[in-house]
Formats: sequence, C-alpha cells, structure tokens
Amino acid sequence: NNEEAAAKAAAVNADSGTPTIFDKIIAKEISSTIVYEDEKVLAFRDINPQAPVHVLIIPKLRDGLTMLGKAEARHGEILSHLLYTAKIVAEKEGILDGFRVVINNGPDACQSVYHLHLHVLGGRQMKWPPG
Ligand code: AMP
Repeated sequence: NNEEAAAKAAAVNADSGTPTIFDKIIAKEISSTIVYEDEKVLAFRDINPQAPVHVLIIPKLRDGLTMLGKAEARHGEILSHLLYTAKIVAEKEGILDGFRVVINNGPDACQSVYHLHLHVLGGRQMKWPPG
C-alpha cells in the first residue's frame, strides 16, 4: 500500500545525514503546534493524528539517531529524556490513565521520517495488537 511504499522510499535516505522535515520544525521554518519544549527536546502535534492526542517527541540534535536502531551507549541520556518527556506530555494532555508510546523503526515498521521520534497516542481506547 501507499504507506509501505512511502516508508521504503524514505528509508533510502536513512543514513545519508540528509536533513528531514523535523529539522525545519526545530528551526521553526515550518509551523507546528508545540506542546512542550526544553533545550534538548521538542514535542509537537502530529499533522496526521491517529488518536485524539497524537504528539511527536524528538531530540533537537539528531546526532546520528535517524532511528532507534542506530542508538549507541552515548545516546543513553537523550533516550531517557525522550521517554520521560512522554510522561510529561501525557500528563499535560490529561491522558495519564491510558496512553501509548510508539517508535517505528525502519521500513518494515513504516518509519517515514529519519529523525528519531516517539509517538504519544491517547484520548481514546487503544487496541492491541497494533497494526
Ligand atoms: P513515522 O511514520 O513513525 O516516521 O512518523 C512520522 C510522523 O510524522 C507521521 O505520523 C506524520 O504524520 C508526521 N509528520 C510528518 N510531517 C509532519 C509535520 N510537518 N508536522 C507534524 N507531523 C508531521
């Protein structure tokens, strides 16, 4: 389907260091609805929400983290900060009673932007297993 084809196409640039659309969001060259921001991370609403609350959390510095599968020991601090930020976002959005954190890694998981990001989803009954 289209989603899978787009993901395969996006994966071609995964290792090239090519800037992604998220760099423009970080630079505020394109607009986004920011939910939370600090010196290390940015959280903003997904443009194509899959739940009433759908927020993306990204490191401001990609530092080789095109995807979780590229993580190295030196990334431990930012990875932990991203996950803690998911809790902060869930709290701000009032969904602490039920929310899901997703990381799509690579073409088989339909990753489409090669700058690590956590999806925080909630505000409705989530289903299991995910698609
Ligand atoms: P993934 O498929 O895990 O790589 O997720 C990428 C996400 O980025 C998708 O859910 C898109 O809807 C979202 N996205 C792409 N462009 C934008 C944008 N300009 N602003 C907000 N979200 C975006």
